Amino acid sequence: MPLYEFRCKECGEKFTMRLSWQEKDKAVCPSCGAQNLQQLFTGITILGSSPKGSSCSAPSGSRFS
Ligand SMILES: [Zn+2]
Repeated sequence: MPLYEFRCKECGEKFTMRLSWQEKDKAVCPSCGAQNLQQLFTGITILGSSPKGSSCSAPSGSRFS
């Protein structure tokens, strides 16, 4: 099972979770319980893949700190 890294957009908590592909949509912040997470890709090398058209459905226009 792959290890995903997320950052919580609510509280800024950064954490990793070991989740199946389906489960990663249900990931919640362990700190505040928010589902507003940004998926990070550190630690997972995906060669030849571009961000466009990815399955990430995070709303655009969200601010990055
Ligand atoms: Zn949080």
